[in-house]
Amino acid sequence: MAEKFDITVIGAGPGGFRAAVRCAQRAASVAIIEKDFIGGTCLNWGCIPSKALLASAHTLLAAKNAAAMGVDIASATPNWPKIQARKDSIVAGFRKAMTDSIQTSGAKLIQGRAIVISPNQIKIETDNGTVEILTDKIILATGSEPIQIPTIPFDGQTVISSKEALSLQQIPKSMVIVGGGAIGCELACVYAAVGTKITIVEALSRLIPMEDQWVGQLIERELKKLGINVLTSQKVISTDKTTGLAKIVLENGQTIEAEKLLISVGRKAACDKQTIEALNLETSGSAIKVNERLQTSAKNVYAIGDVAGTTYLAHGAAAEAEVAAVNATGGSDKMTDYSLVPRVVYTFPEVASVGKSEKTCNAEGIKFSVGKAFFRADGQSVAHGQTIGEIRATRDNSTNKIIGITIVGEMATELIAAARIFIGSDEKISKITFAHPTVSETLHDAVENAFGPSLHNMPKA
Ligand code: FAD
Repeated sequence: MAEKFDITVIGAGPGGFRAAVRCAQRAASVAIIEKDFIGGTCLNWGCIPSKALLASAHTLLAAKNAAAMGVDIASATPNWPKIQARKDSIVAGFRKAMTDSIQTSGAKLIQGRAIVISPNQIKIETDNGTVEILTDKIILATGSEPIQIPTIPFDGQTVISSKEALSLQQIPKSMVIVGGGAIGCELACVYAAVGTKITIVEALSRLIPMEDQWVGQLIERELKKLGINVLTSQKVISTDKTTGLAKIVLENGQTIEAEKLLISVGRKAACDKQTIEALNLETSGSAIKVNERLQTSAKNVYAIGDVAGTTYLAHGAAAEAEVAAVNATGGSDKMTDYSLVPRVVYTFPEVASVGKSEKTCNAEGIKFSVGKAFFRADGQSVAHGQTIGEIRATRDNSTNKIIGITIVGEMATELIAAARIFIGSDEKISKITFAHPTVSETLHDAVENAFGPSLHNMPKA
């Protein structure tokens, strides 16, 4: 007879993992189904491997610049196989830790591809054949996939997505990156640091276009210092791979040859068509439509994270998981203000923002004042030789409250946790979303643990 669960979570990325553990902690019987690796995009092909590579690149640049700090290092060169092995071992460690956490929570992890047949019936294709389970409720956490440019499809070798870019066997001599958003700019920093000749082609007028204009301008200036060629307001229209290299043609007729062409123009929500049809789900583009309680158009079916098309951030998925878990287990919770989910980019220097940007304030007709401070005037920043960047804080003139903070500079992605607290809220502190991956999450976990069970069984130090 088919096994029966109160709640079935499909997908074990940061959204699904957290939802499953939280539901189990709230005494539900839970199945979590994963067709690939536990940890999803975030752990295997996203946040964690990219930050591991960025950390190695950062160390290399620090070693090369050590003379300025009075430290002589004879030579500093990247050992790419070791950099890759270090990244892989970090990922493997967290896969194990997450598997342990699921087991400890009492949720059942099932390896296989889940296809929903009806709101209460799920078919799972496993290595050992097809099994069926019954469920009262479903949480869809199936994530997203990279967007392709139809005229330049991925081939996994020359035309690649971020997934392949994180695991290249060798350092390429040259790479064109199409898309100057977070992922494109982060990978540009990694490869520029290890010696690849990088060109970023961005269709819009600036890099990091989701942030205020000054951010993109500052980042462009700093990336150019790393030797990165930045072409804004430009589009790639075609590529010719007959010579083994990618010969890239831009809209203005310019051509660039590169060993790798990384397409990084965004991600789109991904969920099996059969599942969407079986549940008769309302969609918006590829995303599954949800309300503030993360309920889909189907009764007892929730969707969280990238598949809901809301933040496309791991900690956004985790925040939604908390809400969906409460609702699926009989409580009542909702997502309130998505602008309070911090936005982070791990470039050199980093970018982080939370709350309303100046652009949003203008669009919403909010009368505001902007406070600025510069790292070059800060003693600790000067002592560390990290003087690039600034912080801008936005005050709502009518309420006198800080409503947004944007930071560009060393450790911006950590400082944003403090910025979030400045904006304040009447939520429980454990519900305040901290950016992922950051050291500050450890602070959040400790505070959360003071109120109830924590989520992680972290790998032993
Ligand atoms: P995912 O992590 O995509 O997980 C979905 C899971 O569902 C996958 O494991 C998939 O195999 C599984 N699945 C799908 N369909 C089925 C099925 N039918 N049956 C069983 N399993 C299924 N975000 C940040 O916040 N910070 C960062 O620094 C950051 N860096 C990034 C860097 C890169 C290069 C990339 C690509 C992304 C980055 N992101 C970052 C985004 C982040 O990875 C995603 O927002 C996050 O992983 C979304 O989590 P999720 O749980 O919604 O989905």
